[in-house]
Amino acid sequence: MVDILDAPPEFKKLKVPEEGQKVTVRDGKLVVPDEPIITYIEGDGIGPQIVNQARAVLDAAVEKAYGGKRRIVWWEAYAGGKAVKEYGELLPNDTVQAIRYTVLALKGPLTTPVGGGYRSLNVALRKKLDLYANIRPVQYFGQPAPSRYADKVNFVIFRENTEDLYAGIEWTYDSDEAKKLRKFLKDELGVELRPDSGIGIKPISIFGTKRLMRKALNYAIEYRRRTVTIMHKGNIMKYTEGAFRDWAYEVAVQEFRDHIVTEQELWEKYNGQLPDGKILVNDRIADNMLQQIITRPWDYDMIVAPNINGDYISDEANALVGGIGMAAGMNAGDFIALAEPVHGTAPKYAGKDVANPTAEILSGCLLLEYMGWKEASAMIKDAIRKAIAEKKVTQDLTRHMPGVEPLKASEYTNFLIEAIKGM
Ligand code: NAP
Repeated sequence: MVDILDAPPEFKKLKVPEEGQKVTVRDGKLVVPDEPIITYIEGDGIGPQIVNQARAVLDAAVEKAYGGKRRIVWWEAYAGGKAVKEYGELLPNDTVQAIRYTVLALKGPLTTPVGGGYRSLNVALRKKLDLYANIRPVQYFGQPAPSRYADKVNFVIFRENTEDLYAGIEWTYDSDEAKKLRKFLKDELGVELRPDSGIGIKPISIFGTKRLMRKALNYAIEYRRRTVTIMHKGNIMKYTEGAFRDWAYEVAVQEFRDHIVTEQELWEKYNGQLPDGKILVNDRIADNMLQQIITRPWDYDMIVAPNINGDYISDEANALVGGIGMAAGMNAGDFIALAEPVHGTAPKYAGKDVANPTAEILSGCLLLEYMGWKEASAMIKDAIRKAIAEKKVTQDLTRHMPGVEPLKASEYTNFLIEAIKGM
């Protein structure tokens, strides 16, 4: 776990805002003052546009929902291109420290070069802050969508963020490390690989799995979710993904006994009828599940997955309801939370005021909900539903609305703000 900073550290360049107060943790609970300081990072490409539009919408909703009694004090920190200009480096320590101090942050997408260059700054931030759960709700707001069952989609995906093949433990086929490993596998374990094999390692731990499942079940209880499905390919990868399933069930049965019923118990004890107020914990094999969320989305509610499965299923789930411009996410540790959209920097739209800011705005809603400011989040979601119903949307959505003229992103943002003011 990464410690939260109770007092501001020495910053190289940043200055803590004079207004507002810091979010703290007391008795294991987040304590949010009425004027919390929240760090934001604009990011690259379309990042500055969508982050600033999201901040404006969040501010309008907080003002309206709490009659001016609450407000967010935004504090800018830097990563990516803007950090290089300010600090001469991509991810300054100031930024990591600022988030450890404010506990909450909203971030735009950051560029990651493909195939070479530097490693992902997003992954670096998640690692440095130990943000082990990637929470991705997938919800339908009435937008044009390819699935005939889009209105039945309402999932929250909890994707493990620090382990599995994403941990980046891999070597090219001709590296010394791969040669050593092939030799070790052959000499010590009797496993022979082709001499031209690249090697990647897939670690999945008891610790990593259990803390993710614990977080997911606490969320299920708070948000009254009915089913938590463990997604795995444990029939083939028995000691990583199969173990993930077993350890996740262990948490459910040993730590949440009064709240949950397993699928086996559902049939043995309850004749297939989930008792009121209980959460069903079941598991599904990944490939089956990837097709079932298309054919029977109503069977799924919350999904807990190791990193790679979680990556695949969250993009697929978002495609069912109309695509990436609406796909929100939040990376969470024990307390620190960094909200960011699922999509990237969409460089071709940078500076053009056309990129859909909804994913960034909905990521902000996740922060509001995490802070307990659920009324403000609900207002924003209602405004998004209204914009879609009245076809006041950006070009990515009008593409599937014949005859509808797209709004610029700033016009769409203003529509949301006016809708919130009118509530
Ligand atoms: P991308 O930036 O997500 O863009 C792919 C396509 O998705 C765009 O061309 C556009 O589609 C659509 N799109 C994405 N965001 C949109 C929005 N807000 N509104 C409307 N359409 C949107 O993916 P990419 O091109 O693969 O990656 C670009 C860079 O972003 C890379 O450097 C990548 O590493 C980085 N990235 C960062 C993060 C992160 O910071 N968390 C996540 C993913 C990728 P159309 O062309 O169909 O209009």
